[in-house]
Amino acid sequence: MKIAKTVASARAFCQKAARPVVLVPTMGALHHGHGALIKKARRLAGKDGAVAVSIFVNPTQFGPREDFSKYPRRWENDLAVCRSGGVDLLFAPAVGEMYAKDHSVFVDASSLSQHLCGAARPGHFRGVCSVVARLFLILQPDLAVFGEKDWQQLAIIRRMVRDLTFPVRIVGHPTIREADGLAVSSRNAYLLPAERQAAPGIHDALRRAARGATRAAILKEGRRLIGKIPGARLDYLELVEAETLEPAKNRVRPMRLAVAVFLGATRLIDNIAVSTRS
Ligand code: AMP
Repeated sequence: MKIAKTVASARAFCQKAARPVVLVPTMGALHHGHGALIKKARRLAGKDGAVAVSIFVNPTQFGPREDFSKYPRRWENDLAVCRSGGVDLLFAPAVGEMYAKDHSVFVDASSLSQHLCGAARPGHFRGVCSVVARLFLILQPDLAVFGEKDWQQLAIIRRMVRDLTFPVRIVGHPTIREADGLAVSSRNAYLLPAERQAAPGIHDALRRAARGATRAAILKEGRRLIGKIPGARLDYLELVEAETLEPAKNRVRPMRLAVAVFLGATRLIDNIAVSTRS
């Protein structure tokens, strides 16, 4: 496995690599959710193609009061996960390698960023798009794998690729969960024991609420169930069209029921598919 810390060496590796090059962008602190994406990337790359994983805790996607400085960093563990997943290139640049001190050009996904997490985290998706666009330009992957756990991110990246005609195919991967249903996340490590115990209630609430017959019934039941989780504070619960992220009103196109919940100081997100009206 090649470890590249500079843009130049990562670019040189990918230029020489056999195709397809399949990229999995991450912020590190790799867990078995990331491991599943890497496995999928390995399958997509085949035995001749190359799997590239990027690890970059991207400062521009964190708000001023968010957890950039305390975001978990676990280099040795990340190396082991990448090695055992058959990764060919690990690209782990320092901040100064990705951003000039006076960098001033960003990529913004205007309409899709207004909803869900975008409303609560202004500038977040601008940071995500800007760094992912840069990764695509540096590594020029043929495919890139993103998790459905961050549904809004996946939808926005698809839109960015469409609108800016990036020559890369975006592949979504279903959310990997703990045995009790909690979506695996690097931020789960912040949960206190009682919060960790309560956290599976989020997925459970989504699943039960999604059975509702109408949009109003789904949202009402979801709010009620989240309200019963000890220590939980709802940030948002929305039923959206899967592609546009607009509120799903008539329930004819694919939908996601998406939620963000604070458990103590930790903000957790999750989402599930909701079937259309037959
Ligand atoms: P992160 O390191 O949290 O930025 O995540 C890197 C990639 O892994 C993103 O595409 C995430 O959506 C994906 N990911 C993180 N957790 C999960 C999970 N539990 N299941 C599936 N994909 C995930």
